Amino acid sequence: MPSAPPRRVLTALVAATALVLTAAACSSGSGADTSQGAVVTSFYPLQFATQQITGGTVPVTVLTKPGAEPHDLELAPQDIATMTKARLVVYSDGFQPAVDEAMAEVQPSSVLDVADAARLTLTAAEEEGHAGESAAQHGAHDHSGNDPHFWLDPQRYADVAKAIGARLAEDDPAHAAAYDRNTAAFVAKLTTLDGELRTGLASCRSKVLVTSHAAFGYLAQRYGLEQHGITGISPEAEPSAAGLQQIADLVRKEGVTTIFQETLVEAHFAETVAGSTGAQVATLDPLEGITSSSAGTDYFEVMRSNLSALQKGLGCS
Ligand SMILES: [Zn+2]
Repeated sequence: MPSAPPRRVLTALVAATALVLTAAACSSGSGADTSQGAVVTSFYPLQFATQQITGGTVPVTVLTKPGAEPHDLELAPQDIATMTKARLVVYSDGFQPAVDEAMAEVQPSSVLDVADAARLTLTAAEEEGHAGESAAQHGAHDHSGNDPHFWLDPQRYADVAKAIGARLAEDDPAHAAAYDRNTAAFVAKLTTLDGELRTGLASCRSKVLVTSHAAFGYLAQRYGLEQHGITGISPEAEPSAAGLQQIADLVRKEGVTTIFQETLVEAHFAETVAGSTGAQVATLDPLEGITSSSAGTDYFEVMRSNLSALQKGLGCS
């Protein structure tokens, strides 16, 4: 009597094992053929770097649509389906909670997380000492406490590009030489940009950078500026009245002449601070997406426009 259920279990197990083996055979078949499928990237700077490195030989898609704000991205079921079919998914863990969550559905072997290569050493708390957002409010945004905006520091961005290039070359050895060449060319352009930023921001009347959301921590650190975000690292966090007051006090005390607002977030808080202090509002683009209203068609053009805005707003000579 007791042997009947085990046999059924055994039969079920054999059937299940057969299914798993079939599935494994299928997936290893398609997994080995890395020339198939698109590279799915989670937001603009990863898309741009991947496109530069693949040089148009591989389809590269992006989960954050142009003009959408990436922090609070929501994914549709078809986005997740696209991710599961991708030859590679490139993302940065801790930036977009919806993407982090969807990674559970994607084969770990076709994922590249660039967070380590990006060296996300700045934490939210370090940057928000003067902003309106408390650590508790901030915790609700779930980005692991690290500032994700590595691409605004060209050196960190170059390290991420190298990680993407190395991974593409490893997965697709037939085109490794082209990926290596394109990566080196992209890194060289970033090195040039880094030099321009360093020179352009070396001698400024003010080092105090007041921004709408705290996206420029790595840029500030690299070029010796001091960032004060009106909202925190995530733009949907609203500053308190006391936080706005603190920023306004700082603006008066430091003689800040320009408050930087950005393209994908409405300028309300920046305008409030400017209005109460007599400062001007200028645009500094955190490059979380490119739209027709961006001051340039790609990362490099917009970064050079950012440099001009910084030089003007901070009085650099
Ligand atoms: Zn941001």
